[in-house]
Amino acid sequence: MEGADPFHPQVGVGYAAVSAVPVSDLDELEAYANAVAGCTKCRLSQGRTQVVFGSGNPHADLMFVGEAPGFHEDKQGLPFVGQAGKLLEKLLAQIGLTRGEVYIANVLKCRPPGNRDPQPDEIEACEAHLFRQIELIQPVVVATLGNFATKLLSGRPLGITRVHGQEQETALGGRKVLLYPLYHPAAALYTPAMLKVLEADFARLPELLGRELEPAAAPEPELALVAHAEPAEQLGLF
Ligand code: URA
Repeated sequence: MEGADPFHPQVGVGYAAVSAVPVSDLDELEAYANAVAGCTKCRLSQGRTQVVFGSGNPHADLMFVGEAPGFHEDKQGLPFVGQAGKLLEKLLAQIGLTRGEVYIANVLKCRPPGNRDPQPDEIEACEAHLFRQIELIQPVVVATLGNFATKLLSGRPLGITRVHGQEQETALGGRKVLLYPLYHPAAALYTPAMLKVLEADFARLPELLGRELEPAAAPEPELALVAHAEPAEQLGLF
């Protein structure tokens, strides 16, 4: 096993291949969180206090994806527990939700030093964790907070100023979801005009959560073959 990637689909805990007892997605999410707690795929593992995997309702219809843990998140092991998190909770309350009813995660699971921007190789190393989370949680709406989550999950380079508030159907985790880009609460904290826009975009979430989505189309036979043969490459398509 030396040199084996513990997060490879055929090796990682969350993907245990043979079991006499059916493993629920909830158990798998927990097992996956435990496996990710020891992740050393990128340099950020050296400076972290702990991995910040994500928190909330593992069956949530609404999932938020932020950028990366900051100082407080790194210390507490939970996402969005600082000032931006307080604003996120306030915005949720305005639409009648609590953070326990949604799921909150980040693009990066470890804090970048000094809260600098995520680097491309760090995102690449970490993205499989996020995609697996989405696959297990099966949200209806994935709200991306800010540029990094929006660009990663949309697979497009368009910035948040261009695309905020514009939902788009896309396939994530093998299912159709509504991707809904929002301004990052940290950016809205000190910019009243941006906060107004964020509040207005947030107000549309209940309607989006009620949308019926077509089931994701079955992959073309040739694509299915390629995906089966090269699971690691498939992740790179996002
Ligand atoms: N900002 C983020 O993007 N994520 C957190 O968890 C906290 C602040």
